[in-house]
Amino acid sequence: MAKETTLEDIISLCKRRGFIYQGSDIYGGLSGTWDYGPLGLMIKDQVKRLWWERFVDNRSDIYGVDAAILMNPKVWIASGHVGGFADPLVEDLKTKKRYRADHVLEAAGFNVSGKSLADMDTMIKENKIKSIDGNDFGEVRQFNMMFKTNIGAIESDDNVVYLRPETAQGMFVNFKNIQDTFHPKLPFGMAQIGKAFRNEIAPRDFVFRVREFEQMEIEYFTHPQRADEAFSHFQKEIKEFILDIGLDKEKLHELEIGDEDRAHYSSRTIDFEYDFPIGRKELFGLANRTDFDLKAHSEGSKVDLSYFDEETKERFIPHCIEPSFGLDRTILAILSTAYATDDMGEEERIVLRLHKNIAPYRIAVLPLVKNKEELVNKAKEVFEMVKNIATKNGIAKSKIVYDETQSIGKRYRRQDEIGTPICLTVDFDSLEKGTVTLRDRDRGKQEVVKIEDLENIFK
Ligand code: ATP
Repeated sequence: MAKETTLEDIISLCKRRGFIYQGSDIYGGLSGTWDYGPLGLMIKDQVKRLWWERFVDNRSDIYGVDAAILMNPKVWIASGHVGGFADPLVEDLKTKKRYRADHVLEAAGFNVSGKSLADMDTMIKENKIKSIDGNDFGEVRQFNMMFKTNIGAIESDDNVVYLRPETAQGMFVNFKNIQDTFHPKLPFGMAQIGKAFRNEIAPRDFVFRVREFEQMEIEYFTHPQRADEAFSHFQKEIKEFILDIGLDKEKLHELEIGDEDRAHYSSRTIDFEYDFPIGRKELFGLANRTDFDLKAHSEGSKVDLSYFDEETKERFIPHCIEPSFGLDRTILAILSTAYATDDMGEEERIVLRLHKNIAPYRIAVLPLVKNKEELVNKAKEVFEMVKNIATKNGIAKSKIVYDETQSIGKRYRRQDEIGTPICLTVDFDSLEKGTVTLRDRDRGKQEVVKIEDLENIFK
């Protein structure tokens, strides 16, 4: 039976092969931060591209924006983040370590749905729940998760700005700009990919819960009566998008959030949960934010953010449907879905069964040995040829890699671990008979083919 993949397996592979490293590693790290290495970045970049293609390039009703991370602090007052973007915090009285009170209770088997701070406080006290170090907890408090900094040379309360905790607000504040410059008719949307920052009380589980992460979000504006239709549309789109990036639809679960647990601005929310090695957890969210944000910013900025329908002569504030995708959680979902161990005849191997759309490399070209000049020259010639075939088929040259370090067995293992679907080996027959060997990552099957046929085969 296949061994269950743990988070540690993924973290170790990521470090070993250059997908993701601990942030500020040589200084002992910085909690809640991770650095993407070359291969992790290639996957991330590809996920963003596929997302942008689906939600912006292949339709004409969604406008891309790239708003500033630092925004006027009034934005966060109007949106409710200054007053309410908080998690319940509880502190170990002895070690002073901080925990999310709801997570502590859930780990102890309690349901915290709809519970207030006071309820959670009582539950922790009455059930004598202790920290993992065995100590008592203090009182459950609110903790605002926005990072603060100061703008300009002087540090004072008057020039505080926040690092955005979500990309969404950068789109709401540009609603009028888009209307004035492009005059779109409803329904239309805006899309943005960018960094968001949250001072999580307890960052954990690798890139699942971090303090600096990337989001891919859409704010889609509709007539209030057509909001349900748009909601269903994006519900379907989310399920299709996960197939674009090779996620497993059996591992995706829709959780309809009840009234007592929904954010204050939402009239309907679905959490798209995924089966991660750490259990079933939120991957994406879909919310009907109603007219909450445009109304709040109309009031906060004193700028009219309504929409005038030329046909019906009706003026109203559009409702907004928000699909929200966490990019780092997507990467974790991809890596944990693809990670497998098996034995390929000889010995146990680790293999990343990545969808070819997102594998860092499509094809690796390997000379059988590196100390035979003629053979290496042939391999380099084939490498150039395969890059040209790739370009002709709309695939970047960087997706084809040349690898000659270490033994061929080690190179196969390396390519399996980084998810390269095909290894193309140039051997002595290549010189004599003009053939190469193609090795399939998943089946391990080796096939001898003529170099002159490569163009047709790769098509
Ligand atoms: P959670 O309940 O897990 O804290 P959330 O409900 O606060 O998440 P949203 O505010 O809905 O999350 O954010 C939208 C998406 O951004 C999430 O679905 C998730 O993919 C991602 N996300 C949110 N917080 C983090 C984080 N700390 N680290 C990584 N990704 C995050």
